Parts: sequence; structure tokens; C-alpha cells
Amino acid sequence: MEANKMFINNEWVPSTGQETRDIINPSTEEVIGKLSLGSKEDVDKAVASAKAAFDGWNRLGPGQRAKYLGALADGIERRKEEILEAIIRELGTSRSFAKYAQVQMGIDEIRGSLEVLDEIEFEKNLDNALVVKEGFGVVAAINPWNFPLNQIQRKITSALLAGNTVVVKPASETPTPGLILAEIVQEVGFPKGVFNLVTGSGSGLGDYLASHKDVSVISFTGSTEVGKGLFDKAKETVKHLVLELGGKSALILMEDGDMDLAIETSVNTIINNSGQVCTALTRLLVPRKLLEEVEKRARAYVATRVQGDPGDDKTHIGPVVSEKQMERVLEYIKIGKEEGARLIAGGTRKDCRGYFIEPTIFTDVSNDMRIAREEIFGPVLSIIAYDDLDQAVAIANDSPYGLSGAVVGPEDKALDLARRLRTGAVLINGASHNVYAPFGGYKESGFGRERGVYGIEDYLEVKGIYR
Ligand code: NAP
Ligand code: MG
Repeated sequence: MEANKMFINNEWVPSTGQETRDIINPSTEEVIGKLSLGSKEDVDKAVASAKAAFDGWNRLGPGQRAKYLGALADGIERRKEEILEAIIRELGTSRSFAKYAQVQMGIDEIRGSLEVLDEIEFEKNLDNALVVKEGFGVVAAINPWNFPLNQIQRKITSALLAGNTVVVKPASETPTPGLILAEIVQEVGFPKGVFNLVTGSGSGLGDYLASHKDVSVISFTGSTEVGKGLFDKAKETVKHLVLELGGKSALILMEDGDMDLAIETSVNTIINNSGQVCTALTRLLVPRKLLEEVEKRARAYVATRVQGDPGDDKTHIGPVVSEKQMERVLEYIKIGKEEGARLIAGGTRKDCRGYFIEPTIFTDVSNDMRIAREEIFGPVLSIIAYDDLDQAVAIANDSPYGLSGAVVGPEDKALDLARRLRTGAVLINGASHNVYAPFGGYKESGFGRERGVYGIEDYLEVKGIYR
């Protein structure tokens, strides 16, 4: 697909911006398309279209809105192969991971939100008051490249069900899944202007969209650095903010926990999506006396992971998304070595075309090193030793971030530790997320929650009408 158009008011219109940027396949370094860099004029049109559509959509009511979202999920299901291929091509995610975590999960999450929609009391009588929950207005949905369908899905499902209208900006590296989503919106026949999509640079078009006076909510997923800057954009017209930012999550292996499970769980999070996952468990905390054994088994496990063509069913790990991301990750590996961490696996770029970095494991990491504190967003794991469980909890919590965490150990004791972790999610013994429970961060990982009732609640204004 040539990504050369904007989707405004249910129509594909050419951008008034003249410039384009290349879309690059990170596995081959080939240019595979062009992205239009939209203009301020495009943003103005898209926001005006969303603003005009708001009153009708907001008054439609949750039941009617749900029908459109159900049709959207069916439309994604029909085109899931095409979306999957686009994600493999633009992001370099392995097919085996992308199938569920990138595509099917998006469909399941929409359906999960529809299942729980009637748990929300959109209207309620309190004495002489009618309490009404409704949309804010126009939501600017700004997305990163690492889950190019599902991050857009999480924002728009919640925002639209709540009664808001949206202007979506996909990440410039991976725009195609968002563009296909817009085509599905058109096929489904959403009311005009409810869903709009513009493409362009973050610092230009994204910044202008976030600052727009007619935008009521900025919903952003991406780096903590850009996320922090959005407070300034929000303040002028007191916009509501939903921020899903970075992470540096810890997995605590307890002494009596399953060591292989702990290793596989943490290592898989640097293999899947090449570690470009905000919830990746990039700090593996292990009892000091088990350190040597953990190192041995982690090295052995990572050696079983196949790196190569992400389209191949047998591949576990492909490239990172871009040359810029590769440089960033390699710089962190250099920093780790300089800080005195010891490399036990990987550490270099693969000697071939494409932005392939070998899965990398450092040990002898202390929690004050930059590689333990900063989000690397690539296939790099740090092993950190602890002496007792109080210290393990302290290390896990000693982070500016608070997105996710994990514990491997006997369930009752693991649950006690889970309650002490200052993070928005904790996975015990390799458990998975589900489509109903909240997703989001503590501390500098942001605020607001996605998925299910928790997601929708974030996009609802509350009004009291007295009579
Ligand atoms: P980013 O710069 O935060 O970009 C995320 C989104 O925001 C993109 O759509 C981007 O547009 C847009 N954007 C950038 N600057 C903006 C601004 N000033 N105002 C409004 N929108 C703006 O993230 P990135 O460059 O894609 O990745 C950089 C680092 O962020 C990664 O290495 C990683 O550490 C972190 N990250 C975290 C997550 C997460 O889920 N927590 C996801 C992605 C990245 P363009 O695409 O056009 O630049
Ligand atoms: Mg950027």
C-alpha cells in the first residue's frame, strides 16, 4: 500500500503536505513505501471533522456505538493476514509472535471490551440528580511503532465506546496497519468524522495535533521523554491526558521458584518483538547463590532461539525496527560493558543485511547502572543478584518506571511479593494478561489504564443533571 493519503471524514484525501519519508523493511534495509508527511492544514481538517461528528456520536449511546466496534473487530478478522504481513514487513516481528500478540490480541481485546460494556453505568439516578457519563470530545491518539495495530486499537476502542471521536496518528516507521484499519472503518460505514487518521512526523504534525485547541484528550503511547513534553501541550486548554510510557520491569526468581520458567519468561520478553515491548522483563533478579546456575541456563536457553527472517515460521527473533533503534541499542550495550557488567550472550550486530542485534545478556549488573535504569527497547537482558526477598523487592521498586513486574515462586508467597511491587501489572509464574483486566503504569510509566471497563472509564466525562 502506498501510504500517501489521509483519512478524513470517511474519505481518503491527498495530503496538502508535499514531503514524504521512506518506509523501510528492517530485515532487508529496502525502501518498501512512502509515507506522506501531513501538514497543519491536514490536522485542522481532521480535527474539524472529528469535532463536527462528536455530538451525534456522543448522543448515539453505548449500545449503538458497540455495533460499530463489533463490525470493526469482524473487519480486522477478515483482513488479518494482510495486517500480519504489513507488521512483519515494517516492524520485523517474527510471524509466530505477531500472529497472536500483534493481530489476534487486538481483535480479542475489542470483543472483550464489548462483553463488559454493560458493567458501566452510563446513566444513574442519585436523589434528584441524573448522573451521566459521556465522551470528552476529540481524542488525539498518538501511537508508537512497536504494536502498530493494537496500540491504536486500545485507544480507539475505549475512546469511541465512551462517546468520543478520534484523530489517529500512527508511528512513521509502521503506518500500514493503521491505514488498513481506516479502510475497515470506511467499509464498516462508521458515521462520517468519527474516526480520522493523519500521518506525518512526530515533532511536526504530532506536536501540532497534540497542541490543537479543539482536541480534548491526548492519548499517547511512546517514550517517557515525549510523554513528559505533553503536559505542556495539554495545559493551554486543560486537556485530559492518558499516557502509556516506558518501562524497566523486573522478574523476581524466588529461591524455591522454577528457575527454567523464570529464565524462559524473562528471556522471551527480549526475544519477542526483539525486546521492543514496554512491559519487557528486562531485569532478572536472582538469589545470589543461584547466580552461576542461572547464567549457565540462560546462556543455554538463548542459544536455542532462532534469529533470522521474521517471515519464517521457525524464527523467534527478527531485526529491530530501524537503523536508529539499532544504533541506540548498540550504544547501550557499549555502556553496559563500560559500566562493568559482564556479557554472557550476544552483544553484537549480526553480520548480514538488516538491523539484527543478537539477543544479549549481561550479568553482574547492579541496579544503579544505566543499563538497569533506562529503557533500552531492544533484545538486552540484565541479571541482577539479590541477598534476601526484602532486597529483591527494593531493587525491583528502585526504578523511575512502574509498568510491569513478575514473580516466579510458590504462589502464596509470590502473591505477597506481587502486592509489594509498585507496578501496574504483576505476572506470577508465567501467567498471561487477559482482555478484561487493566493495562497501564505507575510512576513515570504514565497514568490511565487501557482495556475493558478500565480503559473506557478513562475516556468518560461525568455530568450531574439536577431536576
Ligand atoms: P516516540 O518518539 O515517543 O514516538 C511515539 C509517537 O509519538 C510517534 O507517533 C511519534 O511520531 C510521536 N511523536 C514524537 N515526538 C512527538 C511530539 N513532540 N509531539 C507529539 N508526538 C510526537 O518514540 P519512538 O521515537 O518511536 O521511540 C523512541 C524510544 O521510545 C524507544 O527507543 C523506546 O525506548 C521508547 N518507546 C516506548 C514505547 C512504549 O510502548 N512504552 C513505545 C515506543 C517507543 P513519529 O513516529 O513520526 O516519530
Ligand atoms: Mg521519535
